[in-house]
Amino acid sequence: MKQPQTFRYMSQTYHIKNEPLRSTSGDEESFRMGEVRWHLNEIGLHEDNTPECNRDTLLHEIVHVILGMNFSGGETEMVVDVVTRGMVHVIRENPDIIKYIQEEG
Ligand SMILES: [Zn+2]
Repeated sequence: MKQPQTFRYMSQTYHIKNEPLRSTSGDEESFRMGEVRWHLNEIGLHEDNTPECNRDTLLHEIVHVILGMNFSGGETEMVVDVVTRGMVHVIRENPDIIKYIQEEG
């Protein structure tokens, strides 16, 4: 399946863009696989991500959106990684549960 171009969450639409991402650490060797640009409602994904890495990174950035821009601090990335890994396996291994949750009412 082709990567969707938008992500909807709490009545907001985030546009998903694949492009070169610069490191914010100033280290030329390191680069970011993804980022949330809160002020633009955008999720940036590095254009060189492999398809598998891109899927994981998209979900990682979605978890950042769920936690919100005020959730920050030293353990943020660890929390996001743990929740993302859990969600990947819940989603992949439980399609019936996902369909059930999608139903309204
Ligand atoms: Zn992160």
